[in-house]
Amino acid sequence: MAGIYIHIPFCNSKCAYCGFYSIPSFKLKKLFLEALKAEIVSRKDYLQDKAVNTIYFGGGTPSLFSINEISDVLHLINRHYPITPNAEITLEANPDTLSLEYLKALRQLGVNRLSIGIQSFFDNDLKYLSRRHDSQHARHCIDWAKQAGFDNISIDLIYGLPSSDAEQWNKNLDIFFAYSLPHLSAYALTLEPNAILTKQIELGKVPPINEDDTLRDYEILCQRAAENGYLHYEISNFCKRGMHSKHNASYWFGTPYIGFGPSAHSFNGASRQWNVSSVERYCEAFVAASRHCEEERRSNPGKELQYLDCFVPRNDAKRVQEPVIEKEQLSPEQQYDEYVMLRLRTHWGIDLKWLKREMGERFSTYCEQHAQPLIAEGRLSQTREFLYLTDEQMLFTDGVAEELFWGN
Ligand code: SF4
Repeated sequence: MAGIYIHIPFCNSKCAYCGFYSIPSFKLKKLFLEALKAEIVSRKDYLQDKAVNTIYFGGGTPSLFSINEISDVLHLINRHYPITPNAEITLEANPDTLSLEYLKALRQLGVNRLSIGIQSFFDNDLKYLSRRHDSQHARHCIDWAKQAGFDNISIDLIYGLPSSDAEQWNKNLDIFFAYSLPHLSAYALTLEPNAILTKQIELGKVPPINEDDTLRDYEILCQRAAENGYLHYEISNFCKRGMHSKHNASYWFGTPYIGFGPSAHSFNGASRQWNVSSVERYCEAFVAASRHCEEERRSNPGKELQYLDCFVPRNDAKRVQEPVIEKEQLSPEQQYDEYVMLRLRTHWGIDLKWLKREMGERFSTYCEQHAQPLIAEGRLSQTREFLYLTDEQMLFTDGVAEELFWGN
């Protein structure tokens, strides 16, 4: 099995806390679509005909794309990739772009999972985060999504907000549980290096994040999710039985995936590659390559052309330093580190038997030996051949993973 990710890099405006790659301008939208289509067609060999069971439109704000635009992209993917009949097709949506009509059309297109960026049901939080919607509209969107026929709905909430307190966070969760939605992604507010919020806090314009409050909210979240029958299956993700995001799970299980669009990553089991984080450079390269390929094909009809060979060499020395696609071949040790990092984030944890079978005994032995002091300190748990983190331990995943990394 394999997954497809499409990064739509446009937003109506930039939220204060945002660390994702997106731009608040639509000047390049038309050109971007041309480049995206060229990339989808040209990289079809990457997944080597593996059946695709998840498609994920992320961003940015994919719901800024019209129904026709999303339909075009889906048709193209269906034409060039073997999509399984019940594939999970997710679209991330922001409330300020949604209407009942749009959601109905989206559902009819075959999009069967919706992830809505609600972030909070309280206006003071939404203002702190500089979101464009208000709490009333957030609620309308959930109602519309249900009315439109979506039964696989996830919402995002953010905790640890200086604009909130324990009571308000509990009320946010009350509202979520009352909707009985199958999935919740809840993120701790963090300061991203280039985010507007980071600057605002530095300048004292808005109150700073308090780590104790973040921890308090996280504990409330874990406890209330468990009480309400939600499985805490990844640091930031909770679901009803069987309703986890299949697409995101493929990242944690090492399933191959291909990412289209600027800043999108791809993984084929042994190497990773990622596209440049610039809409401009992405468009320039893929559109130029696609047009150049077309010309070559016209003038040399039978000639076999590798699409990536068609990238036009650049003269601009400064830009050449940043390639459009970068690639990293992973050594077995790096693959081991990735496995440890990704699996510790999940409730499935590290499977020592799998490690031994797939990567060799030296890795499973190394991991088990290095796990012992962490287990003794209560920072890691073990049940039979699985090493995992409990709710309380999960907040400190990075530190634990580092101590299990190869060479430590
Ligand atoms: S809508 Fe999402 S991607 Fe766009 S700026 Fe806000 S947080 Fe970032």
